[in-house]
Formats: sequence, structure tokens, C-alpha cells
Amino acid sequence: MSTSVECFHLNTVDGVVPVAVEFRSSHQARRMKLSVLRGGKVRLTLPRGVRRADAVAFIQEQAEWLVRTINQTAPTQTVSSHLERFPWVSVAGKLCSLECAETMVRPFLVFREGEELVIFRYRGGEHHERDLLYLLRKLAVETLPGRVQFLADRIAIPFGRVSVRDQQGRWGSCSTQGTVSLNWRLVLLPPVLQDYVILHELAHRRHMDHSERFWAQVAAWDPDWKKDDRTLTKQWGGLMDLGRE
Ligand SMILES: [Zn+2]
Repeated sequence: MSTSVECFHLNTVDGVVPVAVEFRSSHQARRMKLSVLRGGKVRLTLPRGVRRADAVAFIQEQAEWLVRTINQTAPTQTVSSHLERFPWVSVAGKLCSLECAETMVRPFLVFREGEELVIFRYRGGEHHERDLLYLLRKLAVETLPGRVQFLADRIAIPFGRVSVRDQQGRWGSCSTQGTVSLNWRLVLLPPVLQDYVILHELAHRRHMDHSERFWAQVAAWDPDWKKDDRTLTKQWGGLMDLGRE
């Protein structure tokens, strides 16, 4: 029996949802079987010799069921259980695989521009959760301002500065002085949703309300904003409690 984990971007009615799937090939298995384990981990059991393309098609066929079932399993409670279910982060508009391992030294992270891999090294034992939380927040502080700058340049909207914070119940906000405040948890959203939140806040540079004019501005930059907004609430609303005592 051998196993490996891969990340898939599944097409669902609510948009693209990244899901990590553990592949397990087994001598005993007679047919492919997809299961959602306790905690939301997804496993595909395969008989020997199944073609990769058939396995991928099999996963995509069951996308709706899969995403619904993952969301119905016990909600994520700890940072480590979240990262086990969703072993990726969004940096600079890209979905990056996350590689986590223990270290004897202080926790640190490595990512290089243009690469689709982020490395986390954390201390084990009692430090485990705290270190992972620290690394996620550090990643957010280091990468979200750059993404705001990139998107603001693209749509030619000036802003003041970016503040990365631990807001309760909101993804971001924008002050009259032009400070864009973002929730660090944005690094845990799929790239398209991270961008949607940032564009939403930048649209407040034009309209400081949620008027029709405001939404028309958002729609001009993100034609799929309604779908994105729904997915944000339905699929990812639970992230708001992550890392809170
Ligand atoms: Zn708003």
C-alpha cells in the first residue's frame, strides 16, 4: 500500500474549491472509492493500475458531494487540523502548497516570489499550535500588502497603507484616510476570494458605503463578485474562529 497527497481544484456550483486528496493504492480494492474521514480528510482508495486521468475524473465527478461532505464534518478547531484539511496558502494570487515540518530552532517560514511552495518550520509539542498561528500571521503580514499594491495598481486606485489584523467577524475594512485593514486569515482563502476581499475594500476608496454605485464598482473589477461573496460566507465563514482562544 502506498499513499501520497495532492491538491485538486474542484469545480462546483459555488466556484472552484481546492481540496487535498490522499491517494492510497491497495491490493484489496476492487474499485475506486472516495471517502471523507473524521476531521474532513479526503482519501481516494484505488485498485492497482488505475490510470491517473481516470482517478482525476472520478474525483471531479463527485465534487459537489465531496465539498458538501467536507463542510458537514466537524468544524475546524485548530490551526493544525485546518492545515491538515487544506494544506495550502494563497500568496500573490497563487495557490501554494504548504510543507510543514518540525524544527529544533525558532519557527521560520520560507517562500520565494514566483514559486508555488511555502515552507513552515515549527517547534513541536506545546509550541505546535502557537508556532503555526505565528507563521500564518507572519506570512499574511509579509504578503498581503504586496497583493493590495498589485491590485490597486491594476485598477489605478490610490490607498494609504495596509494593516494586517486579527479582526473578529470581518475580512477587511477601509478607513476614510485610505488605510486598508485585512484579516490575516485571507492567506487561507483561495486566491480568487482573497482578491475579491481586497477589491471590495479598494472599492470603498470610491464609495464609503454599500450603495448600488459601490456594488457596480465591485462588479466592474470582479464580474463574479456575487458568487465569490456567497462562497466566502458559505464555504469559508468558519475560518473566522480559527486561532481564537
Ligand atoms: Zn464593505
